[in-house]
Amino acid sequence: MTGEDVAELHLHGSRAVLAAVVEALRRLGLRLAEPGEFTRRAFLNGKLDLTQAEAVADLVAAETEAQRRQALRQLDGELGSLYRDWGRRLTHLLAHLEAVIDFPDEDLPPAIEDRISAETSVLVAEIDRHLADGRRGERLRDGISVAIIGPPNAGKSSLLNRIARRDAAITSPIAGTTRDIVEVAIDLAGYPVLLGDTAGLRDSEDAIEQEGLRRALRRAEEAEIRLFVFDARYPAGAQSAAAWPGPDTILVANKIDLVSTIPLCTPGERGKGAAAIGKGAQSFNRDGIRQSSFPISALTGEGIDALLAALGERVARNYRSEAPVLTRARHRHALEEAASSLSRSLTANLTELRGEDLRLALRSLGHITGTVDVEELLDVIFRDFCIGK
Ligand code: GDP
Repeated sequence: MTGEDVAELHLHGSRAVLAAVVEALRRLGLRLAEPGEFTRRAFLNGKLDLTQAEAVADLVAAETEAQRRQALRQLDGELGSLYRDWGRRLTHLLAHLEAVIDFPDEDLPPAIEDRISAETSVLVAEIDRHLADGRRGERLRDGISVAIIGPPNAGKSSLLNRIARRDAAITSPIAGTTRDIVEVAIDLAGYPVLLGDTAGLRDSEDAIEQEGLRRALRRAEEAEIRLFVFDARYPAGAQSAAAWPGPDTILVANKIDLVSTIPLCTPGERGKGAAAIGKGAQSFNRDGIRQSSFPISALTGEGIDALLAALGERVARNYRSEAPVLTRARHRHALEEAASSLSRSLTANLTELRGEDLRLALRSLGHITGTVDVEELLDVIFRDFCIGK
């Protein structure tokens, strides 16, 4: 794997044997490998490109199945080959442009510059499409963010605890106890999910609570999926969920254990609540709730599995991908640079400047894989180009 000769020793695994062998090897002048040294050597010997070397690190750090799969795909080289393919196409364009610059009097194919522009535009579009992936690959590496929001006392902290199966957030019957954001990392159907419990959404005079609210709102806005929790007895509380429209907000009716036995809401609230959670159900009961939201009890655990299954499905749907996905901010920056150099080349009025922009774009792409050597590739292509014969 490193491209170097290796000797493998198969030993009895006891500590004493290992220590004695390591000591004997040390006396021969050998030493233990430093962290990442094998991967580094493999890269330096051209056995791996940089994206693959990064994938080795990701594989070591992978905590869930989806992260492991993503790292393996990258280690397989699919991301690197996508970038190298763009690099190759760009090198051809650059070679043609250099030909225009260096041999203006030669018999070059007509409209060659137009063709270069057209193909540059195609490349920009492909890179832009790759960039506009909602940061799925990066999110999968870092954890997919899910925010638990809703009115105070709806049972958000209790839900988080129930899911995390440990006391991660403090629950209390006094409204407004969760003043900051409590986050737990869970493995949801193989996907790494960061579940954040946020301060209850309500107006407050208290400065600390207001700060908590501000953070909660930001966290909720940035989250990929929101669980909007409300007390099933007071479905009017679900009304404010309307502020988070779209398929990525899941309505959760908590405290369902109290619903069939203690119908506490007033008839007025009942009507409003039913309208708020949709379907205009006249009678307020479990079935009515079920039509528009997930009925659960954070206390008894009822409905939690169904909610988690639905959440897992939604995450899996968002993250299923045939095309290779960007996994690191480092790649993103380099690709953004490449795309902007390419776009600039389209508007540059001097051929020399266009060439320089293409060269910059090629260099940016090369930084990702660490393998494109501009000069060398140009030499090869120039030789094939048969100019000057
Ligand atoms: P938060 O303010 O939304 O985070 O609400 P908490 O999780 O602190 O819960 C508020 C109160 O409701 C606490 O006293 C909980 O024990 C109680 N509670 C939460 N979930 C349930 C539930 O499913 N059933 C019942 N009966 N009580 C619950």
